[in-house]
Amino acid sequence: MALETLPSPATAWHTLEADKSVLLLESDRDSGLTTKQVEERLQTYGANELVEKAGRTSLGIFIDQFKNIMLVMLIAVALVSGAIDIRKGDFPKDAIAIFVIVLLNGILGYVQESRAEQALAALKRMATPKVRVIRNGTVMEVAGRQIVPGDVMLLEAGVQVAADGRLLEAQNLQVRESALTGEAEGVIKHAELELEKDASLGDRLNLVFHGTEVIQGRAKVLVTSTGMQTELGKIATLIQGIESEDTPLQRRMGQLGNVLVTGSLILVAIVVAFGVITTGWSKFEELLEVSLSMAVAVVPEGLPAVITVTLALGTQRMVKRNALIRKLPAVETLGSVTTICSDKTGTLTQNKMVVQVVSTASDTLQVTGEGYAPNGAFKRNASSDSMIQVSEYGELQKLLLACTLCNDALLQQKKGEWIIIGDPTEGALLSLAGKGNYDQAEWTHKLPRIAEVPFSSERKRMSVVCEVTQNAKESDLDGVNHLQESGYLMFTKGSPELTLECCTSIQIGKDIQSLDDEQRDRILQENNRLAGQGLRVLGFAYRPTLSLPEGDFNESEEQHLIWIGLVGMLDAPRPEVRQAVQRCREAGIRAVMITGDHQLTAKAIAENLGISKEGDRVLIGRELEELTQPELEQEVDHVSVYARVSPEHKLRIVQALQAKGHFVAMTGDGVNDAPALKQADIGIAMGITGTDVSKEASDMILLDDNFATIVAATEEGRVVYTNIRRFIKYILGSNIGEVLTIAAAPLLGLGGVPLTPLQILWMNLVTDGLPALALAVEPAEPNVMRRPPYDPRESIFARGLGSYMIRVGIVLAIFTIALMGWAYGYTTNFHPEGLDADRWKTMVFTTLCLAQMGHALAIRSNTQLTIELNPFSNPFVLASISLTTVLQLMLIYVPPLQRFFGTHILSFTEIMVCLGFSTLMFVWIELEKLFIRWRASKALALR
Ligand code: ATP
Repeated sequence: MALETLPSPATAWHTLEADKSVLLLESDRDSGLTTKQVEERLQTYGANELVEKAGRTSLGIFIDQFKNIMLVMLIAVALVSGAIDIRKGDFPKDAIAIFVIVLLNGILGYVQESRAEQALAALKRMATPKVRVIRNGTVMEVAGRQIVPGDVMLLEAGVQVAADGRLLEAQNLQVRESALTGEAEGVIKHAELELEKDASLGDRLNLVFHGTEVIQGRAKVLVTSTGMQTELGKIATLIQGIESEDTPLQRRMGQLGNVLVTGSLILVAIVVAFGVITTGWSKFEELLEVSLSMAVAVVPEGLPAVITVTLALGTQRMVKRNALIRKLPAVETLGSVTTICSDKTGTLTQNKMVVQVVSTASDTLQVTGEGYAPNGAFKRNASSDSMIQVSEYGELQKLLLACTLCNDALLQQKKGEWIIIGDPTEGALLSLAGKGNYDQAEWTHKLPRIAEVPFSSERKRMSVVCEVTQNAKESDLDGVNHLQESGYLMFTKGSPELTLECCTSIQIGKDIQSLDDEQRDRILQENNRLAGQGLRVLGFAYRPTLSLPEGDFNESEEQHLIWIGLVGMLDAPRPEVRQAVQRCREAGIRAVMITGDHQLTAKAIAENLGISKEGDRVLIGRELEELTQPELEQEVDHVSVYARVSPEHKLRIVQALQAKGHFVAMTGDGVNDAPALKQADIGIAMGITGTDVSKEASDMILLDDNFATIVAATEEGRVVYTNIRRFIKYILGSNIGEVLTIAAAPLLGLGGVPLTPLQILWMNLVTDGLPALALAVEPAEPNVMRRPPYDPRESIFARGLGSYMIRVGIVLAIFTIALMGWAYGYTTNFHPEGLDADRWKTMVFTTLCLAQMGHALAIRSNTQLTIELNPFSNPFVLASISLTTVLQLMLIYVPPLQRFFGTHILSFTEIMVCLGFSTLMFVWIELEKLFIRWRASKALALR
């Protein structure tokens, strides 16, 4: 059949039987589509993508740039200054220049914002999930955008559904459809229904929809529509994957803008009023010009751009270190994290499980072999050569059968390497079964699964019911008693304590006996012994039944089971984590382990990694449940390991830590971790093993699932914050210096305004802006991870920043005013050929610029002298200083620029005098560092 004959997207799939839908879409329930079909359909239907309804149009973004109050003020300044010039009969150069700069600023802001939006979109693409499908008869993972109608898609808990589809099979499937219907409660879905045509979206219980979340169970789905044809596509109000919110700092800077504008207007009023009172109206125009210059000077025009660039560079550096930022505020606040709560499996450990031990009533066996390869043997003890024959060992046969059947993973060989698709714990069990020659395909055929209660982190176990076919009955399996006479076999695996609770008998050899207390104790002791070695231990049980229960199969069936044995698997710690934990400790950050695993396993690994130390407590989920929230708050500071916890406990732990004033980063991967991730100050999802739901709730995604990456991102966060503070000090200090210098001119009785608005804009945007950008990429200071975190709620002006700005601004003004006083006297009295009497103004302009060059050089470190720093550790600073100095000299000596900026040629001596005065600024800051050091050493000596 040709593609054109495929059903229209408007087909009412919910009214059709599953098989009919498969037929209509020319697919196959078991083998899915072929590669050729997929290619053709991709051509016809396009990629499975939602065309996002853009939040803002390009014009909107451009117009937004001018909504900034500082720019509005600049436009007002331009209008007044233009009016004055025109009245005087001069060309309104300043006004035009200001307009050009305002426009340029707008364009620059526009380019930056569009780029930032593009970058966020790219990050979002990196975060899009993979989808499990069956194609050409094989299960594979493909990118969500590659899905086409007719694909057979596999769903499990935690997955975000990637397209609309008709259910072919569903086991306890529960889906949260709030993205579509607003209904927060999960909806239970069934494959076998056929519904009325007019069933509403929320009632179409045999369909699943794009963008909804599987919260429980599993399903096989026939994709019916993709991309914009899906229900979500139709309503096209997309839940944004990555939010581009303003950071707290950007918000505070916005507020600062308001303060500065108001402040400058008040200043203008004061200067004009004071001037008019003392000198009368004759000087009004001059006073107005002074005021306009002051208004321009007070506004740090370059600052917002530098902040945006710094945050953007920060996210890029973090992505290079495998931390994908989803919400921009996280870049800035990461540095303030005081506690990192981390999952164990996969984050602290490698999540590469290898079964080491099998322990049954008769024996404890060592298992050899490496990785997931199903090659290895069972031995009585590690050093012995004698291997166990599985066929002689009843419990082992039953255990390996349970490993094979009570399992959702797939073990595959690709390019000679054994890989798993699915949960590594289950992968390890398949590999274990393979070592006893149990083939997954063969046994799932002989004992097909017909019901199940899926695994969840709350239940910590899973069960399946398999039908015993004739084929199975004919198998030569001595140990698997009841195979002949039973109709069905139920297998359960999970946390040993919880699985054992469901057991009433035990298999010993080929016999079954009732389970007494002594045997229970022995099993639990063995479990503790294995867990104490840091092994992840699972318990196995089974039960034969003749018939299936009426109605749904659920966890109430998990009783009267026969205990088979324990399996202990090793999940080695990640080698880099030990050092990362150590770095956390030095940086005043506490690492806490939160795991669903056994307390002894958790404790052994936590001790190995240095997370748990003498006197630290291990708190178990059950104990935690008995504590009230205030009691938990009393405990949290002493607990470094939480074991056997459920996702809802995580939420309580974060809340308790926050109540104690901690700033918490919390990792999570499961569907039910989302509330804790949202509550945490920094919610961190796993890029590889994380469910889509957890990613959606997170602020940051670890692309490599690695704990060490959190620490690296925290370090980057600290560097970003330190650099932002550094250039804020640098830029605002300069603004204060400029304002005071301009205000001083009329007060000292000097004729004329020392700096024109145009010159001030030049300084704020170019001669301050370029070095500030260079300071934004300053590398980490050596002590960045050897000091405690700063309070995230502290003001940006805290810890001396505000006083530094004012102090340095005043010092800069004093040096410049001193120069101004001298230069005024000198230049008005001394007129060599070709030199102008107004040269003093250019000297003030040049001194301010050059002083800021010295400032940039010195401000690279708060404590180290400039000569102690490697000038090439941030070559951008030297480069920007050199470039800016050359540009400044061009403004003075290149005639067209000179005319445009209203500068005057300076003699060599005059330039040297400017340089001399500017150098004082550099010397002052270096002396401040020496003073700080001296004070610190004195304080140390006094202690
Ligand atoms: P973390 O939160 O550090 O990732 P975890 O992965 O050990 O910890 P869970 O996956 O919730 O936490 O597992 C909790 C317990 O459930 C395990 O200790 C194990 O006993 C049991 N378990 C884990 N995976 C399965 C599974 N696929 N089937 C049955 N039981 C399992």
